[in-house]
Amino acid sequence: MKPQQSKSTCSYCGVGCGIIVQQDKKGKIKVKGDPDHPVNKGLLCAKGMNLHYVVEDRSDRLLYPQMRRGKGHPLERVDWDTAMSRAAAVFKSIIQKFGPDSVGFYVSGQCLTEEYYLVNKLAKGYLKTNNIDTNSRLCMSSAVMGYIQTLGEDTVPVSYEDIEIADCFLVAGANPAWCHPIIWRRIEKHKELNPGTKIIVVDPRVTQTCDLADLHLQIFPGTDVVLYQAMGRCLIESGDIDLHFIQNHTDGFEAYQNVVMQKSLEKSALICGVSVSDIQLASSYIGESKGFLTLWAMGLNQSADGVNKNLALIDLNLITGHIGKPGSGPLSLTGQPNAMGGREVGGMATLLSAHRKLDNPEHRKEVADFWGIEELPDKPGLTATQMISALEEGTLKAIWIICTNPMVSLPDSKRVEEAMKKARFVVVQDISSKTAGIPFADLVLPAAGWAEKEGTMTNSERRISHLSKILNPPGEALPDAEILIKFANKMGFSGFDFPDAAAVFKEHAALTKGTNIDISALDYGILKERGSVQWPFVSTDQPPSVRLFTDKKFPTPNGRAQIRISGAQNQHEATDPDFPLILTTGRIRDQWHTMTRTGKVSKLMKHIDTPFLEIHPHDAKQRGIAEGDTVVVKGRRGEVRIHAKFSDKIRVGVVFLPMHWGKILENDFARTNNITGNAIDPVSKQPDFKYSVVEVAKFSKP
Ligand code: SF4
Repeated sequence: MKPQQSKSTCSYCGVGCGIIVQQDKKGKIKVKGDPDHPVNKGLLCAKGMNLHYVVEDRSDRLLYPQMRRGKGHPLERVDWDTAMSRAAAVFKSIIQKFGPDSVGFYVSGQCLTEEYYLVNKLAKGYLKTNNIDTNSRLCMSSAVMGYIQTLGEDTVPVSYEDIEIADCFLVAGANPAWCHPIIWRRIEKHKELNPGTKIIVVDPRVTQTCDLADLHLQIFPGTDVVLYQAMGRCLIESGDIDLHFIQNHTDGFEAYQNVVMQKSLEKSALICGVSVSDIQLASSYIGESKGFLTLWAMGLNQSADGVNKNLALIDLNLITGHIGKPGSGPLSLTGQPNAMGGREVGGMATLLSAHRKLDNPEHRKEVADFWGIEELPDKPGLTATQMISALEEGTLKAIWIICTNPMVSLPDSKRVEEAMKKARFVVVQDISSKTAGIPFADLVLPAAGWAEKEGTMTNSERRISHLSKILNPPGEALPDAEILIKFANKMGFSGFDFPDAAAVFKEHAALTKGTNIDISALDYGILKERGSVQWPFVSTDQPPSVRLFTDKKFPTPNGRAQIRISGAQNQHEATDPDFPLILTTGRIRDQWHTMTRTGKVSKLMKHIDTPFLEIHPHDAKQRGIAEGDTVVVKGRRGEVRIHAKFSDKIRVGVVFLPMHWGKILENDFARTNNITGNAIDPVSKQPDFKYSVVEVAKFSKP
């Protein structure tokens, strides 16, 4: 075998780093950062650097399709034809008896765009249900609604190159030093070269991101809206707003001003648990800046108030006119590598292809005509947690889970397990035999992983990158796109005659024509030649789409951005004497999601190898807990048993659990989502992982 070298993209976070994969004569692969890639310029974080270990260790891989003859029967090996025939027969029968909305697909922000496109076309166009949702619902849906309600469309208007231009960063509800490391390296370097650059961090915990901060506002969980509106008030009072931009390019400022000016700064500071002077200082940093970037992630999005938090933050960009110009604008940090690609193809229960709107009959007709079908269903589909409710209620009979691990990642895990038990038919399509859904599955389909299939992904800055196929998948595993095409063919559908991933991409690109995310001029050839491009991409001659809204025209009905005053605030569950502490959850540096990949890499386990509860020594002492003690963290829905780790970097009254671990020992649970609840944002339907009420006690053996 000849040594080979291919370019690809890291499959972990939404930063979207370019990678070079080298394969030696024996077929062993090595990964290094692509020095020519504009995102990472050769750098990789620990997760990216160790990608090849995940690919090489195939000990946990699913190798062939498996099927149960009936509930309670063991899984048995079958061939692909048998597996697909069973899937098609069960789906046909259920749809015939109970209608199209009795089936659903739950997919992943780690699926490639082509896979997302196919499953969306299959569900909406051919099975006639909008029940196709994704774990991106747990990640970005509040940001999506924030963008739509302010800018008119789900559009990140800036690029990473704005980092090197900005002189003020507001990092809210995010720990990019650990979770988006390569973006953070760029910010660190920029501040090193430009020490006057101001960094404001808003987080209830002192994280590694705070090491670089000029100001850390350690707010009480859930008080973000109050804080950003207080900052808005300060900016108005100091005259640091852009009246020309407001008057000519926005609506809603008067209502915004009326509300924020009525709110006392002292009271807001008290609610947030920070000082008035710190709010004023943060506002002065923003007011004095020439380039102001807001960066945020799950701290805002994963909340029962997620959309309001997004609106209040984006408002700061709008009232100061910091949008559509170099170094300025909102930059939501995508958690998953292709959450944005999934949104582009409309791969969610509430979206349509190319940012078309599901409730717009013309948009539905455009897509239906393009697919050559009569019509698309108009009823919004079930979102992630709504699917669980529908399984419980028995209205959703069959669920097909692709590339995600909902028994660990969805809130209120025990409820998810019970719901899965009620399903008539569960399909799990995955790479790993460790996926927690397998015991509940009637059909298990082995999928190809990263480097074993070709496709594209879009990162947080609208950058579409190509991923090469470098290795053959193990056993009988197949690329997800091929599995979906097999199923569509078994169902007798005619619109799935795709010879390869490039053909799927070509059709997706053609469907974007004439929309604001038009990539109709893009194909694999251009992507391979240029490495990556940002959307829109309407011609090979156009300059790069680095920054949007430079003409100050927004895709709203009147072309003006909308300054939105957030209504309801703090819709989280309330503490009480039984549950006096607030639990917040999040990532640790070297782990990814439910650890089915990073958990295999011993180098990544070196950083933190066991789950823990972060608790302030004051709260621990009050409960007679010593550092390292096993404690029971009890919430309204369940509990976890775990070691206590003292930290004065968390507020008194707040505790933290990492999100990654599932069931680790029999009768001993470290699964954080045993505790988290079913509160969702009323607009985005995104679950709240950042605010559950709990009590903590020292564990004593019964
Ligand atoms: Fe991969 Fe994200 Fe790390 Fe880049 S920053 S190497 S995309 S995990």
